[in-house]
Amino acid sequence: MLLAVGAVVVGQAACDSSTATTAPHPLQSRKTAPPGEPVIRVRIERNAETVRFDSPARIQIYPEGHPELKALHATPLTLELVAAQWRGAWGDSPAPRRTTLVIQPLGPSPLIVNGTAYPGGIRLVPVEPAPTIATTTTPTSTGDAPRAAPADPFDIVNHVTIEEYLPGVLDRELYDHWKPAAFLAQAIAARSYAIDRIITHGPGNYYDVENTQASQAYGGAGAHALAVRAVKDTEGMVLTWNDQIITAYYSSTCGGTPQSPETAFNRPEQNIPPLMPHHRSTCCEGTRYYSWGPITRDRATLSSRVVSWGQYHGKPIKHMGVITSIQPAVKNELGRTVAYRVTDHLRKSYTLTAEDLRHAANFNSDALKVAAPPRDDRLLSSNFDVAVTDKQIVFTNGHGFGHGVGLCQYGAEQLAEKGYDPMRILAEYYPGAKVERAY
Ligand SMILES: [Zn+2]
Repeated sequence: MLLAVGAVVVGQAACDSSTATTAPHPLQSRKTAPPGEPVIRVRIERNAETVRFDSPARIQIYPEGHPELKALHATPLTLELVAAQWRGAWGDSPAPRRTTLVIQPLGPSPLIVNGTAYPGGIRLVPVEPAPTIATTTTPTSTGDAPRAAPADPFDIVNHVTIEEYLPGVLDRELYDHWKPAAFLAQAIAARSYAIDRIITHGPGNYYDVENTQASQAYGGAGAHALAVRAVKDTEGMVLTWNDQIITAYYSSTCGGTPQSPETAFNRPEQNIPPLMPHHRSTCCEGTRYYSWGPITRDRATLSSRVVSWGQYHGKPIKHMGVITSIQPAVKNELGRTVAYRVTDHLRKSYTLTAEDLRHAANFNSDALKVAAPPRDDRLLSSNFDVAVTDKQIVFTNGHGFGHGVGLCQYGAEQLAEKGYDPMRILAEYYPGAKVERAY
């Protein structure tokens, strides 16, 4: 199936498709936009100490900015960075210190990186060691016998064209038994999100997105056929509003009551009409995460977890004592609580967005020695009722999974099952947006 394309207003797809004329080029309307199909830089591993390439048989390696130093190496090949020098790639040749390495496959087979195949190329980017919590510093030893130097950390970043990247996103974001229309709608949303990230997050950074749900899940090459097909059938198609590609957020399950980018991410500038919450009569009802709870947490433990979250993020709530009440402070236009007032035993109150309260309740940190709560105790969304008792804090009436901004994946699948086409699905979740070709 090839979708009809043009400047289609997704809210009025049926009547506007014939009026498509000279569509503006959304990519060119943003100052920093790259021309044509962009390459996206996906961070696939943070703070790696070693990396192994198993395929293809030969790979090319060179320091970024120095293609004249390109050398061929046979796989399997393991690389690490020790005392700012790459080991494994350079033999006896002088090694550039603390440089980014470029790795490319020789031939059509994809690189296999730490056991996973990735389209495109790889950059190995030296990074500062992960920050640890400040403690009393001990001077580094001097005059001791030589010992093996620890490997320096580096990030592994996949450079891949958008169209090669997206199948690996859809493969992870949707179930392979879901309907093609859900895949097609998701492909357009994911492409829009990805290109927006390149334009807004990329400049000044060495990556555009993470490979996790912090951005969009991504599993590399080898996506299933439905994902590959949906990307191909929507090639270059993006959601726009006011001639700009929108940050087409989506999440697993909205629970029927979405929220805005401002309340979910503290991004009021993203409160454009297609991303604002609007009433959804039966969205995702009856699906797996539509309702959840109750979840009962120990009051003292949860209090200290919220304090640790505050320390980690430098928020005033790091000074809080033991929680004595949690009251709704702000509700959005649909009645969803989007901020809470948290009061402690000294009667001091702190206001947190509901999304921050959720993250604080789920918080874990190696640096702060805070273990993750058990999986069944985690809050799936920020849409819940909460009550504080003598020993416990109880979350009831939970709805949804994820932030609830933009497209609802389970809801989109339900609409696809009802026979909605991809444009109608997008119209449901991004009202007023257009679908246009970016390249
Ligand atoms: Zn929903």
